[in-house]
Amino acid sequence: MSTSQFPTRQLYYDGRAQPASSGKTFKSINPSNATPLAEIQVAAHTDIDTAIAAADRAFHSWSQTPPIARARILQKAAALLRERNDEIARVETLDSGKAYTETSTVDVVTGADTLEYYANLVGGGGLNGETTQLREDAWVYTKKAPLGVCVGIGAWNYPIQIALWKSAPCLAAGNTMIYKPSEFTPLHAQTLAEIYTEAGLPAGVFNVVYGAGDVGAYLTAHPTIAKVSFTGQVTTGMKVAGSAAGNMKYVTMELGGKSPLIILPDAELDSAVDGAMMANFYSTGQVCTNGTRVFVPASMKTAFEKRLLEKMEYIRPGPLFDDTTNFGPLSSAVHAEKVAYYIRHGIETDKATLLYGGLGKPQVPKELQDGFWIRPTVFTNCTDDMKIVKEEIFGPVMSILTYETVDEVVKRANTTELGLAAGVFTNNLNLAHRIIDQLQAGITWINTWGESPAEMAVGGWKNSGVGVENGRRGIEAWVKNKSTLVDTNGAVATVFAKL
Ligand code: NDP
Repeated sequence: MSTSQFPTRQLYYDGRAQPASSGKTFKSINPSNATPLAEIQVAAHTDIDTAIAAADRAFHSWSQTPPIARARILQKAAALLRERNDEIARVETLDSGKAYTETSTVDVVTGADTLEYYANLVGGGGLNGETTQLREDAWVYTKKAPLGVCVGIGAWNYPIQIALWKSAPCLAAGNTMIYKPSEFTPLHAQTLAEIYTEAGLPAGVFNVVYGAGDVGAYLTAHPTIAKVSFTGQVTTGMKVAGSAAGNMKYVTMELGGKSPLIILPDAELDSAVDGAMMANFYSTGQVCTNGTRVFVPASMKTAFEKRLLEKMEYIRPGPLFDDTTNFGPLSSAVHAEKVAYYIRHGIETDKATLLYGGLGKPQVPKELQDGFWIRPTVFTNCTDDMKIVKEEIFGPVMSILTYETVDEVVKRANTTELGLAAGVFTNNLNLAHRIIDQLQAGITWINTWGESPAEMAVGGWKNSGVGVENGRRGIEAWVKNKSTLVDTNGAVATVFAKL
C-alpha cells in the first residue's frame, strides 16, 4: 500500500489526465524529511507519440486563434494562479524543499507575472511584423509565425516558474507544448495543466509527460517537434542541443553558471554582504544565477568577513512552513551528496579556509533529521584554480577571493567557460557601467542581485546558454519570420527581355 500524501499522477494530454501505458512509476520525495509525496507514472514512447499527436492536432486552430482571444485565456489562467497561490506554493515547498516564505511570495507570483506579461504583449499587437517602404511602388512586410509543437524541459529548482516561463511565450505566440518537468519536482505540472484547461485553453495545447532523461531525449529527437526549450545543466544541454540541431529544431538553452560578484572598495559594506548572501544562500543556493565567486578588495577582506559572519547567523533552517524559516534542504539526496562532495573537496584537496559551515547537517528538529540538509558554507582565501571556484556546485557554498586592481578582477571574473550572470557593488556608477560592459555574461546587476522580472530578457553567454527567456525579446524565440516583398509597378524587372 502506498503511503504517499498525494494521489498518483497520470500524464496530462488532449485536455485531461490519462494513464501511462509503461506500467512504471517513480516517487516524488519531500526533501525536508525524505518521505514519499506521490507516485508519478512514467510515459512510454507510445504515450509520448499520442500526446504529440494531440498537440499537433490542436496547433492548427490555436495558431489561427486571434492573439487577443489567446490573450484572454492566458490572462484568466494568470488570475487563477494568483487565486490559488498559497495552495500551489504549499505543494512546491513539499516537492522542492524550498521554504514557504519563498514559494508563497516568489515562485507562483513570478510565473503568473510572465503569463500576464506575454498575454498582454500579444493581445496588444506584440506579434505584429514590420512594414518597410523600399520605393514608391514596392515595400517589404514581415510576419511572425508560430513554430508548431514545442517541448519544454524543466530543472528542479524553480518548478512552476520554469513551466510558466516556457509555456507563457510559447502558447501566447500560438504554439502548442509538451512539457516534461524534472523527475525530482513533478507535482506542479498537473495543477498548471488543469488551470490552463479551466481558463479555457483548448485540449492538446498544453500537455504534460513524466519521466527521467530518456523521456526528455525521446522528445528532443522526435520528428514532429519544432523547438526545444531546455533548462538544466551544461552537460545535459549540450546533448539536448546536439540532438535538436540534427533535425534543425529551434532551441533555447538556459544552463548553469559560476558567476562573479565584484565588490569595489567604496561599496556600502552592509549592502555588499546582503547581496553576497542573497547570491549564495537564497533557495539554499540552488539558483542558476548565483554569484558564487565573491571578489572582495584585499583591503576590505577583514571587515567583509566580520560582517558576513555576523549575518550568517540570520540564516534559519527549520520546518518549511514556519514564518521564520528562510533556508531549506537541498532538493534531493543525490544532489545533497554532490554538494557535500564539493565541500569535502574544498576542505581536503583545494585546502581553502573554511570560514563558516562545512560538512554535516545544520540543526533542525528531530522529525526533519532524515532530510537532505546541508550547512550554509563559506570558504575564504580561495584561488582561481580551485575546483570549488571553477565548477558549478548549485548549493549553499560561497567562495571569497581577494583582488588588488579593477583590471585584474575583471580579467579573473571572465576567466571561465560560463557566462550566465555577473554583478558589481559600488557607489561609483560610472565605474560600475564600465565594469559591467566588460563582463562576459548575459544577466548583470549593479548594487543588487537575483531579481529577474518578466520584463527582463535573461539568458547566458558562452557555455551558459543560447537565446533568452522573458522580456520583449523572449517572444522572438517562439516565432519564425516571413518576409514578403510586394511590387506594384506592374512590370517585372527582367534581364530576359528581347534585345
Ligand atoms: P539536468 O540537466 O540534470 O536536468 C534538466 C532536465 O533535463 C530534467 O528534466 C532532466 O530529467 C532532463 N534530462 C536529463 N537528461 C536528458 C536528455 N538526455 N535529454 C533531454 N532531457 C534530459 O539539470 P538539473 O535538473 O540538475 O538542474 C540544475 C541545473 O539547471 C543547474 O546547472 C542550473 O544552473 C541549471 N539552471 C539554469 C537556469 C537558467 O535559467 N539558466 C535556471 C535554473 C537551473 P530528470 O531530471 O527528470 O532526469
